[in-house]
Amino acid sequence: MNAPTGMPVGLLALQGDYERHEASFRALGCATARVRRPGELARVRSLVIPGGESTTLTRLIDLAGLRGPLLEFARELPVMGTCAGLIMLARELADEAVAIHGVRTLGVLDCAVRRNAYGRQVDSFTAPVALQDAAASPQPFPAVFIRAPRIVSWGRDVEILAEHGGSPVAVRQGRLLGLTFHPELTGDLRLHRLFLGMG
Ligand code: GLN
Repeated sequence: MNAPTGMPVGLLALQGDYERHEASFRALGCATARVRRPGELARVRSLVIPGGESTTLTRLIDLAGLRGPLLEFARELPVMGTCAGLIMLARELADEAVAIHGVRTLGVLDCAVRRNAYGRQVDSFTAPVALQDAAASPQPFPAVFIRAPRIVSWGRDVEILAEHGGSPVAVRQGRLLGLTFHPELTGDLRLHRLFLGMG
């Protein structure tokens, strides 16, 4: 299924960094719409699950009755998850049991992730990462990692678009794009443009 490309890109606007994603898509001349209720998914061509906090996102997704509708959406249309958004897409968490408590992922992206794998907020950092394949260009991408998850294992259908420190940090599986970092915090729009090209 393909939604008409005239439709806006949706931003899951329950919590987290959706405003900066809006600004990135608008800079590319693309309309956006905030999604907070199941019915609003019918009005968007694709969806971004932004960074934030996956325990809070879990709670708010379930409170809004969005879990089933999001799963259905992600089976057919493009979804980009960044940082906590990637955690929500992941098949499973590789955290210790105590840390998993309170996070229930959607399980659509075939990778296991460990939350807060690089330390605490103060350990946040920016690193240049090389983009592969469709996203490739000679310039490295300035990847901003904020309490970022690490992708610790992944399935055969998962294509690695960038890695850092021996782990994938940008992956694509069909129409799903998962980033462990925050592309919306840089002026570099290549990954938002790549996502727009996915449907
Ligand atoms: N550490 C957060 C979580 O586990 C993610 C941080 C982020 O999205 N910047 O949900």
